[in-house]
Amino acid sequence: MTTTRDLTRLSAAEMASLLSTREVSAVELTQAHLDRTAAVDGAVHSYLHVDQVGALAQAEAVDRARAAGEDLHVLAGVPVAVKDVMTTRGLPTTCGSRVLEGWIPPYDATLVTKLREAGMPILGKTNMDEFAMGSSTEHSAYGPSHNPWDLERIPGGSGGGSSSVVASFQAPLAIGTDTGGSIRQPAAVTGTVGTKPTYGGVSRYGLVALASSLDQAGPCARTVLDTALLHAVIGGHDPRDSTSIDAPVPPVVEAARRADVSGMTLGIVKQLGGEGYQPGVRARFDEAVQLLVDRGAKVVEVDCPSFDYALAAYYLILPSEASSNLAKFDAMRYGLRVGPSGVDAPSAEQVMAASREAGFGDEVKRRIILGTYALSSGYYDAYYGQAQKVRRLIADDFAKAYETADVLLSPTAPTTAFKIGEKLDDPLAMYLNDVATIPANLAGVPGMSVPSGLADEDGLPTGLQILAPATADERLYTVGAALESALHERWGGPLLAKAPELKES
Ligand code: GLN
Repeated sequence: MTTTRDLTRLSAAEMASLLSTREVSAVELTQAHLDRTAAVDGAVHSYLHVDQVGALAQAEAVDRARAAGEDLHVLAGVPVAVKDVMTTRGLPTTCGSRVLEGWIPPYDATLVTKLREAGMPILGKTNMDEFAMGSSTEHSAYGPSHNPWDLERIPGGSGGGSSSVVASFQAPLAIGTDTGGSIRQPAAVTGTVGTKPTYGGVSRYGLVALASSLDQAGPCARTVLDTALLHAVIGGHDPRDSTSIDAPVPPVVEAARRADVSGMTLGIVKQLGGEGYQPGVRARFDEAVQLLVDRGAKVVEVDCPSFDYALAAYYLILPSEASSNLAKFDAMRYGLRVGPSGVDAPSAEQVMAASREAGFGDEVKRRIILGTYALSSGYYDAYYGQAQKVRRLIADDFAKAYETADVLLSPTAPTTAFKIGEKLDDPLAMYLNDVATIPANLAGVPGMSVPSGLADEDGLPTGLQILAPATADERLYTVGAALESALHERWGGPLLAKAPELKES
């Protein structure tokens, strides 16, 4: 007999199979996850909002449809959590900001519609750094999420709610977004899997924009196959998103099942993984590469000299686009509105200024100021224009690297999870977390983080990043699944089985 606790430990693929044979109902499965959340989320704080009623209603509908013999999606009845940056009709969407506190969107993001159509109960909205700016969730206006491996540490960011929700078995699957690494870095530091699809591979309609030329939504899960299954649900063309690729979703599920790297060439990026990377992160990376070689892959070193300038270019392009995107939070149409103190009949401008001052946190303000400066006349060419040129060079480096390699590999993040509070007062130290993940966003290519082990010095998870050419997302899954299976053999099971048990209340 399967207990409630066992249910939440299964992979999404296993849950789907128990549902299809009716050994478990969608209501039971959803309730098991809600119970787990009631027991542990006081400590982990993955959620900003849990939708018990809505999730159970969706689960009941799936059970009824199954009983009636309807043809259902493979993931029907498998619950999912959604980052609070995606609009959800009837459910709060705050983007981790006071500015949107209490806002209930009147429409669903396209990917949320797809989840609902697949019959996946939406458990709730996950915590994030305010407007997805950050690498730790400490910039959330609602307090940080915690890493299930060590509650005093960060679960990565900006999607630390989505990484910790799957790592703490509160949901088998979650939606994240990745503008500079916010799916991959959280996956790396929590021992989970996350993919940033090719830019345009998943609709961004209903994703509250941070930096429109970089933003990409994607799947978070505990296994490579589960990540692929979710990717297949949310991917594909959407006429409502002008950047959406008009092509079918790459064959990610098939690739995850095949998991055969023999004959593939892996490019080790010379610029990523050297100085500044924690020794334990590097050691696990080298071992993982060796395991792939043992399975028949070839290795070459690739030189991407422009990657050295990726971080600098990103921190001009992102603030520039963010300052423009966030201009819409003007306290007039929706969102927080406060009157300036001591003014009887304030002007619209005074209300806007007072509301933005009260509503935005320090990191958001920092980026608005940076971006506005970089875009201002006289500086535009020197900063924003220059950064765009670097972006071109980075894309060229990728193109050249892919002439000799099928995929590129690096550590996902330079360090394991740091302590909450450790980097909060040092923006540059925080930004450096993204040094390996940013190039993919600048070039629009897909990337994945897969667990590579535990660092010797602190026993915390490390991640290996796989990058593929645009629209060849399936290669991530082939390599990711091959590595996962080799490492599971070595560890005798998944990495998360080694995580300490969370105290249930
Ligand atoms: N840490 C990066 C930043 O703060 C990542 C952002 C993201 O991917 N949403 O910009």
